[in-house]
Amino acid sequence: MRARTAVLVAAAAAAAVLKAGHWELYADRHRIHLTPVARRSCPDCRGAGGWWTGGPFPEMEACGCWSERRELRIRLLRVPAWPDEPPF
Ligand SMILES: [Zn+2]
Repeated sequence: MRARTAVLVAAAAAAAVLKAGHWELYADRHRIHLTPVARRSCPDCRGAGGWWTGGPFPEMEACGCWSERRELRIRLLRVPAWPDEPPF
């Protein structure tokens, strides 16, 4: 009972964060997964999340407005063990 309340509180907090628009939410019955996304108001990438560096071998440079934030995972239920291979 206490654990369920904690999950509900966490989900409510996640929903609040979502409204800020800085996170992408993935949820299923096993977990809630929040991935940081670029801020639209970011002065560096303007929400693109990065930019291409010049030169002969262009690379995508990740902007610090999302890459320096951690992903947030909330485990909801125990993930079942991988099923045994069918007997042939
Ligand atoms: Zn940025």
